[in-house]
Amino acid sequence: MIIIKTSEEIKRLREGGKRLSEVLHKVKEKVAPGVTAKELDDYAFQLIKEMGDRPAFLNYKPSGAKKPFPASLCVSVNSEVVHGIPKNETVLKEGDIVSIDLGLCYMGVFTDMAMTVPVGKVMPQYKKLMDVTRDALHAGIDMARVGKKVGDIGYAIESFVKPHKYGIVEILSGHGVGRAIHEDPFIPNFGKKGTGEKLVAGMVIAIEPMLNLGTKHVVMDADGYTFRTADGKASAHFEHTILITEGEPEILTA
Ligand code: MG
Repeated sequence: MIIIKTSEEIKRLREGGKRLSEVLHKVKEKVAPGVTAKELDDYAFQLIKEMGDRPAFLNYKPSGAKKPFPASLCVSVNSEVVHGIPKNETVLKEGDIVSIDLGLCYMGVFTDMAMTVPVGKVMPQYKKLMDVTRDALHAGIDMARVGKKVGDIGYAIESFVKPHKYGIVEILSGHGVGRAIHEDPFIPNFGKKGTGEKLVAGMVIAIEPMLNLGTKHVVMDADGYTFRTADGKASAHFEHTILITEGEPEILTA
């Protein structure tokens, strides 16, 4: 069921989105060679606690998962696509790209945001992969309008990515968000124009393209969470939480 948010919820979602964006940008500033994934997670947790809020992913158990997610921040390096569990053993190196994904619960409402960050200086093909993924997210956001449908978002992302020949991850998608971290509808990163659920004012959705340098296929690690590319090539991920309005799409996590 798609939940239309009340004006009171939207007020809280705006503040929550702002707080989430501040935290994720601070975590981004910490990314450097020698830093571990666990240190980034600890920092995100500390910042959220200082604000008096709650990390939405910590102890969250998605349907089908055997155990709850053990961290606040997902940290996915290079060929890891999403949902990487931050570990002490994961030490960032110059030339890596690292995806950081964070959900926040502020006064009972949820927002979700992710970005891929270079570690020091990275190869031009990694830089381009990140740029195209970010731009693909914005191509999708531009379709998040009253009168459009979910398929228009997927179509916009897919058409934007096509000339670059990257693999678009299909088995993972964006989603509704707000009263819970994952709500209806699914927002795939591919699709047909004019198909799927209608977008109406007051809907809040997370749009999150995941693009791979090689194949679109991904495999899950034995840890039950980390998705990585099937061919071991790098992947990038950008995500914002968006409010559908009568006018321009509003990026709550800007
Ligand atoms: Mg998400």
